[in-house]
This record gives sequence, C-alpha cells and structure tokens, in this order.
Amino acid sequence: MTGDRNRGWTRRQALQSMALAGAAAAWSPRSLAQDRRIGVALVGLGGYAKGLLAPALQLTKHCRLAGLVTGSPDKLPEWQGKYGVPDRNVYSYEDFHRIADNPDIDAVYIVTPNHLHKAHALIAAAAGKHVWCEKPMAMDAAEGEAMVKACRDHKVQLTVGYRMQHEPNTRRFMAMATERPFGRIIKLRADAGWFGWRNGADEAWRLDPARGGGAMYDMGVYCVNAARYSTGMEPVAVQAWDETVRRELFKGVDETMRFRLEFPEDIVAECVTSFGRNLNTLQVDCERGWYTMSPFQGYDGNGGRASDGTVFEPQLGEKPRMQAEQMDQDALAILEQRAPRVPGEEGVRDLRVLDAVFASAKADGKRVEIAQA
Ligand code: NDP
Repeated sequence: MTGDRNRGWTRRQALQSMALAGAAAAWSPRSLAQDRRIGVALVGLGGYAKGLLAPALQLTKHCRLAGLVTGSPDKLPEWQGKYGVPDRNVYSYEDFHRIADNPDIDAVYIVTPNHLHKAHALIAAAAGKHVWCEKPMAMDAAEGEAMVKACRDHKVQLTVGYRMQHEPNTRRFMAMATERPFGRIIKLRADAGWFGWRNGADEAWRLDPARGGGAMYDMGVYCVNAARYSTGMEPVAVQAWDETVRRELFKGVDETMRFRLEFPEDIVAECVTSFGRNLNTLQVDCERGWYTMSPFQGYDGNGGRASDGTVFEPQLGEKPRMQAEQMDQDALAILEQRAPRVPGEEGVRDLRVLDAVFASAKADGKRVEIAQA
C-alpha cells in the first residue's frame, strides 16, 4: 500500500496537524491512527446496509459514512437526510468509477447481491479505494481470485465482511483450534439457516440462481467458515446433498444443503444450511469434552458453553455492535498499514469449498476433493 492511497496519512501532513494542535507528543503511526476516521462509501442501499451497516458506522471510532452508491435515486433523500452525505459523494453504478477522484472516500463497502461483488470490487480497486466486501465474497473461487489480484495490483486492501471473526467468543473458539483444551478435535457440527418465504415467492434475488441465490451462498458459507476457523485447517474433500423440499419456490437454487467436510487428522464436519429451517449452532466434539456456541452467527452476540462448565457469555451485545467492531478493525488495518484480520484470501478459501459442495450436490453426494491454494 502506498502512502498517497491513505490520504491525510503522510508523515508530512501528520506533523503539520500536530503542529497546528500544538502537540508536543512524538509522532507515531499508532497514535495517529487512533485519531483518524476513514471515509466509507456503501455500495447497495438494501436491507443489510440500511438496517445494520449504516447504524453501525455511527458507532465506530475510526470510520464515517462518507459516500453512497445506488441504483435507486428514490432512496437518496432519506439516506442523505439522515446521514448528511453531500451530493458530491453520491454515485450510481454507472458513474461509480468516478469515485477515484473523491478524496473523501477511502474504502467502499460492497453490499450488493452476490453476483455483483466481483464487478464492484474491480471498479473500486481500479479507483484506488480499499475494498470491503460482503459474504459470500463472490460466486466462485475464480472470481474471488480475480478480486484478490485486482486489489493487489492496485495496492488496496481487500477484506471480507465475516463479522464473526471480530466477535470475542468466536475469536476464543479460533484460539482453541490450536490450544486444544479438550484434546484432539474429533468432529464438528455447524448448522446455519432461517425460514424464509413462508408466504410464497417474490422477486427476491436470494431465489435467483443468476444473482447468487440459495441457502449455501447465503448461510452455508458461515458453516464452512466456522468449520475452518474452529479447526484451523483446510478441508480436503466434501460430500453434499441438496435436500430442497419447496421445489416450487426454489428453482435452480438450494433451499437446504447438507454437507460433510473431511479435514486432516480424520476430523469430520457435518453441516446443514437452509432457507426452510431456523438453524444457528456450532459444536466441537473433542477427545475429552466439547464446546458449543448457539447462536454462533447471531446479530445480538454469540454465546455458548463447554463440557467443563465454562460459559461463553455474549460480549458484544445487541446489534449493530458486531458490525461496528468489524469496521473499526478493518479501518485500523488500513490506517496502521497492516494486514486485515479477514483478507480476501480467506473468502477465496471458502469459495473453493463452495465450488466443491455444488459439484458434489450435482453428482448426488459424490466425494469431491477440494482445490487447495
Ligand atoms: P438486499 O436485497 O436487501 O439489498 C441489496 C441491494 O443491492 C439492493 O437494495 C440494491 O440497492 C442493490 N442492487 C444492485 N443491483 C441489484 C440487483 N440486480 N438485484 C437486487 N439488488 C440489487 O440484500 P441484503 O442487503 O440482504 O444483502 C446484500 C449483501 O450483503 C449480500 O451479499 C448478502 O450475502 C450480504 N449480507 C451479509 C450479512 C452479514 O451478516 N454479514 C447479512 C445480510 C446480508 P440499491 O437500490 O441501493 O441499488
């Protein structure tokens, strides 16, 4: 990353601002980073952007909502009125590339349907803006790899919006993957889903194969990510079964996907993801005990317990604190010029698993080996 990409973050400007403030303290990147807020543009003003990310941005210490990219101009009066975003920082998808000339915006957060993530990431990277991208990072591993390459070529950061990897209890589970407090991990269960479309179909992109619909992309990616961070390993093979029931609603996309991941050391992860059932449990069974989180991907904090009586109390509490923590951590990675917690490569690893899940489900549960980096 170059200094000029981090506007307001050169040593010369830093010294000037300290002089103005009459600061006597010595210059240090860390202390300056604590004071700076990066400008974030939200791309796609839908449910998640409106309900969680925009409110979360108001809670952050290191970000501010600086720009909006939308295909729906009718949404703008409400958004601009509420968050004070000036006209000069508002874009359509057609003129989004002009964001390159806007010094108010350091990072774009892509919150559009899944089939658009790659195209929007490539535009943002070419404009010299850091890229934060929602899950699933893209439609397949090849798209994800193209995004990683584009961001590397343009010297901008790429992070995936895996909010759980910033959540304290999840981070505890990630540490236990190496600490192994109950001995060898034997098996895992990761189930994630929600019961949608109770009253029938509509134009939802989550039901549309061309726009990245289906439970596997939406929620199955949480199971895959959790199985990987709970073991600290990469799965080597998968068997998957599409168990869709409401075929009249789910045409060409999965309502329910069941899959079994094989890890090294004979560890097996049994996973279910669904748009027909409410599911939210991660369980790790080991030689001498177990630990579990339910919910493990809730908006209001994750909580759980272990076989030795340990209780994992939800720490981040009510929404949208998890998203605020995620964006502050991603902003600090930019400001301190260090790698983010969840780089694009992490999203690609999950997409390699998803590619194999879809291939296996198409072949009625045939064992499919997962491509490794
Ligand atoms: P919505 O359908 O609510 O919003 C998506 C927005 O994208 C639309 O409102 C629209 O905004 C824009 N858009 C642009 N092109 C299209 C198109 N062809 N079809 C539909 N919408 C389009 O979806 P969500 O906000 O729920 O999800 C967006 C992304 O965020 C997904 O990738 C999803 O997986 C992810 N997500 C992540 C969550 C998490 O916890 N990390 C939770 C929920 C979602 P506009 O009118 O402004 O152009």
